[in-house]
Amino acid sequence: MDYRGLVVFICVLSLTLANKCSKEDFDCSEGDTAEEVRLRYSRDWTRILKKIEAASASYIPCSSENCTCHESVIKTDLAPFSKGITLKMLDSVQDRGSRYQVINHRLFREEACMFPARCSGVEHFILKILNDLPDMEFILNTRDWPQVSRHHNQPLPVFSFSKTASYYDIMYPAWSFWEGGPAISLYPQGLGRWDTHIQVLSQESKQWPWEKKIRKGFFRGSRTSDERDSLILLSREHPTLLDAAYTKNQAWKSDADTLHAPPAKEVRLEDHCKYRYLFNFRGVAASFRLKHLFLCNSLVFHVGNEWMEFFYAAMKPWVHYIPVKSKASKEEIEELLLFAKENDAFAKKIAQQGFDFITNHLRMEDVSCYWKNLLKSYSRLLKFKPERNTKFIEIKKKGRKQ
Ligand code: UDP
Repeated sequence: MDYRGLVVFICVLSLTLANKCSKEDFDCSEGDTAEEVRLRYSRDWTRILKKIEAASASYIPCSSENCTCHESVIKTDLAPFSKGITLKMLDSVQDRGSRYQVINHRLFREEACMFPARCSGVEHFILKILNDLPDMEFILNTRDWPQVSRHHNQPLPVFSFSKTASYYDIMYPAWSFWEGGPAISLYPQGLGRWDTHIQVLSQESKQWPWEKKIRKGFFRGSRTSDERDSLILLSREHPTLLDAAYTKNQAWKSDADTLHAPPAKEVRLEDHCKYRYLFNFRGVAASFRLKHLFLCNSLVFHVGNEWMEFFYAAMKPWVHYIPVKSKASKEEIEELLLFAKENDAFAKKIAQQGFDFITNHLRMEDVSCYWKNLLKSYSRLLKFKPERNTKFIEIKKKGRKQ
């Protein structure tokens, strides 16, 4: 037995006797169980380390100029419309969202908007760039769910905040960058105001530098998708490794909706920063949670790669976050958590790269810039000259429509 093997043997033996970790033990943090330490040292991490090495070698960082980081998404989303967008195409998806017009640098919208705060969160950005926009007309879907399935439709242009590769929808930056977003008891007006979250979370991350963070996985959220179940169940079995629990949402009726346990108290996003490993999952569509987690400078475990927002494509697995396959089993999640605990330098580096990416490429100006590039590229595809619909209301400033 070599030196390392001997130390591990002693560590595991002492833990087995006491079934807990003491500060003197070799690389075991307080709270680790004997089983966790045994598992950690009995594994060969080469497979994962190779993935990190390969991802890092092929990653080309993008420039912070003109939101170029995200420009491939616009190209990909608009590619199905390369033959042009006709008025007939827009009319055929009229019922899938709210119709907008930009005419002579003024913004108009049909009166109806299914979720006024969501329309308003989007209008905030469009009003700022009106001077740069040519005349155009578009349909904006404010539901969570994308609208134009590739399985049943020809390409039809509907703007949605999130989609999978099975949809033709054109992604736009979610309203929650400014307003709306899920309203939970901690954020009764909705999660919105990304600018404020950037400040508050970056500040909080300084209070919780890597070395001070609790070496546990953490998740709080409602059961908007059962893909989250494995994590919650793993936490119930291994509370020293992971603290993950379901909270209530508006759909909650009984403990069955929180996987047969009383709902946990909601936890502010700032308080997520105390933990070293943070989990993101899809909900109904992509979860707004993801962008916030990176700002804690903790290591993000991003589960599933199907559901996207516009900024996801520029972020790379093993470079900015730990990818977890959707519907991962408890054992698969546990393995990745143990990997992170055992390979701390890699974990810290990926966390930092995730934090740097979001702070450099998902600023409010990047969101505005994306809107501008998206709408300008979209307008070039229109095969008709938009004419003002006099039934539409003019959108001037938040709360002042005429
Ligand atoms: N959230 C939070 N603290 C909690 C629970 C939720 O900050 O204790 C935030 C979370 O980050 C997410 C939003 O509230 O952005 C809604 O979370 P939920 O899990 O209910 O739904 P999701 O949108 O993720 O499907």
